[in-house]
Amino acid sequence: MPPTSTLPRRDGHTHTQFCPHGSQEATELFIARAIELGFETYSLTEHPPLPGGFVDPTPDQTCGMRWEDLEPYFFHALELKQRHAGQIEIRVGLEVDYIPGFESDVREILDSYGAQMDDALLSVHFLEGKGGWRCVDLSPEDFQDGLVDFYGDVEAVHEAYWTAVKQAVETDLGPYKPRRMSHLSLAHKFQLKHPLKNPQHCRPVILEILDAMREQGMELDLDAAGLFKPDCREIYPAPWIMREALKRRIPFVYGSDTHSVKGVGQGFDEAEQIVRLVAGLP
Ligand SMILES: [Zn+2]
Ligand SMILES: [Zn+2]
Repeated sequence: MPPTSTLPRRDGHTHTQFCPHGSQEATELFIARAIELGFETYSLTEHPPLPGGFVDPTPDQTCGMRWEDLEPYFFHALELKQRHAGQIEIRVGLEVDYIPGFESDVREILDSYGAQMDDALLSVHFLEGKGGWRCVDLSPEDFQDGLVDFYGDVEAVHEAYWTAVKQAVETDLGPYKPRRMSHLSLAHKFQLKHPLKNPQHCRPVILEILDAMREQGMELDLDAAGLFKPDCREIYPAPWIMREALKRRIPFVYGSDTHSVKGVGQGFDEAEQIVRLVAGLP
């Protein structure tokens, strides 16, 4: 039986009261809910502030926490870790954005805080698009306007996305580079509105990414949030990508990617079922 056939009761991707686009509920309440649901390990992986020269493409600039919150976030997270020791294992980390051209900024945050972290995720949320940086995951309208119109078609947007993911995996971000790639197929978020003509359009580059991840001993965030997005309805990464990851023995770590208390543990049972299905288990 492959080692990844069942998922440990671990939520490896969560947001906190410090997230400017989250519910702002107390982190303590997220943790209480995780304990209630029987999770044994729970990672706090907040979005760090974005690099100084980077223009946050969201209307209210809420992609990452404010710079003045970074230090208090770690203080808060480490305090919660201590307070709940014995009840639940809290891991402290970040969901770091890989932004092409801003590698040294990312590395600076990792070098400064890496020693305090015992978990972390690496994400790609931003691509160059119409008028500057754009989010891959803001809205179907923004995806069309900022990316599809800019690149020419949905296929070309996916090509740009996976190219950035490949760079993220291959770039040396120093000794504290996150070991886990988050929501690997985030470009599928609006797939029901903006479908690919061939769902495996980027297969060759995706397989290269998985090979590189295996070589580096990286893990995969099995991110259930996509199941609940009305235009996605699919786990990140897509099941065919999971199957390829499984072949390569890349470990899966479930992540709710929750931004509110009610989302803690969301889709865990479904994620487990999908893993069994993909692994061909009864
Ligand atoms: Zn977020
Ligand atoms: Zn994310």
